[in-house]
Amino acid sequence: MADHDHATDHGSELSETQLRVRALETILTEKGYVDPAALDAIVETYETKIGPRNGAIVVATAWTDPAFKQALLADATKAVAQLGHISRVGDHLVAVENTPQRHNMIVCTLCSCYPWEVLGLPPVWYKSAPYRSRAVKDPRGVLADFNVQLPKETEIRVWDSTAETRFLVLPMRPAGTEGWSKERLADLVTRDSMIGTGLPRKPGEIAQ
Ligand code: FE
Repeated sequence: MADHDHATDHGSELSETQLRVRALETILTEKGYVDPAALDAIVETYETKIGPRNGAIVVATAWTDPAFKQALLADATKAVAQLGHISRVGDHLVAVENTPQRHNMIVCTLCSCYPWEVLGLPPVWYKSAPYRSRAVKDPRGVLADFNVQLPKETEIRVWDSTAETRFLVLPMRPAGTEGWSKERLADLVTRDSMIGTGLPRKPGEIAQ
């Protein structure tokens, strides 16, 4: 990506709410009011359940509604806002579509810019130096570490997030899901499939 400008506005990575939550968490822990382990459980919930569910609904909507998909790929910030149930995307959100020809993967090489409105809190590995450097140099190797094997002819495109531009991967709809409801499809959409380090679950892989 061109015009990558991290240095100027790093603070905007955390929303005001996130900053307030962190400050409160520190005070409450210091004073012994709360157990950090309990807080970890809450953070874990946001990291793996509530946040990514928003993104999963966005993806499932794109899978079932061609007009929405078109709108999402044209202007994801606007399209997501129109869904109504997700808090405003403060920064420019760009959706990138996986196809048999191209697989997309998201990284922030300089820090941890992440589309938290749709994916929740970033996973620890997303912020790690090895992921940030290797994702660009050896994306196929990183995918192998995540247990993702793609056909050789599939090109891997890596998108570098910034404080201003965040990316959401629109994974390919799994085969065998014809006629599924949006909610059922959303269960197949994992967080990692929207970062590009994973693929959606297959129909047989979810608990019935
Ligand atoms: Fe960043």
